[in-house]
Amino acid sequence: METLESFVNGAWHRASSGHATLQDPCTEEAIAQVSSQGIDFAKALDHARTVGGANLRAMTFAQRGELLMRMSKAITDAREDLLDVSIRNTGVTRKDAKFDIDGASGVLAYYAYQAKELGDRKLLIDGEGTQLGRSARFWGQHAWVPLRGVAVLINAFNFPAWGFAEKTACAFLAGVPVLTKPATSSALVTERCVRRLVESAGIPEGAFSFVAGSLGDGLDHLGAQDVLAFTRSASTGLSLRRRENLLATSARVKIEADSLNAAVLAPDVEEGSETWNLFLRDVAREITQKTGQKCTAVRRIFVPEAQASLVRDELAARLSETVTGNPLDDSVTMGPLATAAQLEDFVAGIAKLTSSGAELVSGNGTRIDGVGAAAGKGYFVGPTLLFAGDPDRAEIVHTHEVFGPAATILPYDGGATRAAELVARGGGSLVSSIYSDDEAWLAELLPHAAAWNGRLYLGSAKMAEQAMGSGLALPQSKHGGPGRAGGGEEMGMLRGLGLYMQRVALQGSRAMIDRLLS
Ligand code: NAP
Repeated sequence: METLESFVNGAWHRASSGHATLQDPCTEEAIAQVSSQGIDFAKALDHARTVGGANLRAMTFAQRGELLMRMSKAITDAREDLLDVSIRNTGVTRKDAKFDIDGASGVLAYYAYQAKELGDRKLLIDGEGTQLGRSARFWGQHAWVPLRGVAVLINAFNFPAWGFAEKTACAFLAGVPVLTKPATSSALVTERCVRRLVESAGIPEGAFSFVAGSLGDGLDHLGAQDVLAFTRSASTGLSLRRRENLLATSARVKIEADSLNAAVLAPDVEEGSETWNLFLRDVAREITQKTGQKCTAVRRIFVPEAQASLVRDELAARLSETVTGNPLDDSVTMGPLATAAQLEDFVAGIAKLTSSGAELVSGNGTRIDGVGAAAGKGYFVGPTLLFAGDPDRAEIVHTHEVFGPAATILPYDGGATRAAELVARGGGSLVSSIYSDDEAWLAELLPHAAAWNGRLYLGSAKMAEQAMGSGLALPQSKHGGPGRAGGGEEMGMLRGLGLYMQRVALQGSRAMIDRLLS
């Protein structure tokens, strides 16, 4: 069995004890072991801050962009191997593995292009300057400078490549070194990516560290110039945010958490229309893609009462085409859940939804045998559609994320205000998708729904042909939502750099400020 290593202080670290075992979720066979025992986290973080930080800050934006492009290429060059490893480690289909691996190389390349435009400067100018005195000689200008600390990036299991890549792209471009920790269960994929990056991307000494396994006392050593960017479930440690050293030093803490994303069908959308078909296609894909293990997946489907039974039947028919099993079998279109714990949570979650009044339409809410897998082995479940006739009574549907291929249809009266209220019942979401060609209806819904979402995907006949679905977090648009979703923001073009930089207001002679910032 393979033993994963961490990369700290510019060298590979192999622990000799304390290992956790990673399993192939299709066969339940042990495939790797992981432990971070023996790492001196205070020393590793300091090495990143001092050596890595100095190296990155010495580079211009254009040079940091060249680094990101080399990292993107290293992942692209290893694509076939990384796709195989993803399938074995996380049970995803090849198509779903591409979502993560190509997403990683894509986001690195995107920020490499952004860097080119920023050119040979090392500081970022923020907006227009403004006259402060009687004349323009006394001038004010905002600018961004890189923090002098290290960014600790903790990621969830479901995007072991894209998760660290999208955060690292912004941190590196800002000029800040990173120490990244993937979820233990999918650390094999991340470790393989990191090996390629270390071998062939020419990352400056100290700029990149990787911990396979627990972070030990690492978070206790973060301070005023450091960043903690944490992607996690709702249940993982609110207490992490409240750590004394983080509060006392005002270290930057950004959380990306879970989300009860909504899809809303508006009453103007007629059966068989382009918008109707887009809605069904998007929602069915959101339920099954990556076996529903996406933070952006649709969990609540709001449909006007008059169309609810038709939507239920059409979605159930689409989901019945899903073939669940081992992705190594060519007929399989949806893999297993990633771990035994995910399976346990899924089964318990569906039981919660059904006990609060939701009925099962598709799926049985428990483990099934998978196509191409041994009977009784693997963490397989079928696509699961539920129906709750009264969205006010089915409270748990608005508060409990079932992290798997499951979503609930909830009929509503068709009013835009009511739809917005129901969307907001999720307590703050990453994304909601609204399907309508009626701009007056959308204008009524928009301000209320937008306040509760990080992103709104407006599905209509005009964009249906080019639409990529609501689940895709593109670097051009910001990712992260309010409230329950964590209150964080990532990417969104250069906005994503803000977390890793200090905005400073400069006041002085205009000519001097212009020269200093040029
Ligand atoms: P999780 O159990 O909350 O774990 C997330 C990460 O936190 C893992 O790397 C985990 O490491 C680490 N962790 C847990 N306790 C920690 C501690 N005390 N100190 C330091 N690190 C700690 O979540 P998951 O099951 O991996 O992922 C699924 C969840 O993430 C879902 O709820 C999903 O909605 C959410 N998610 C959100 C986004 C987003 O962008 N908003 C994106 C993806 C996923 P170990 O594995 O070693 O415990």
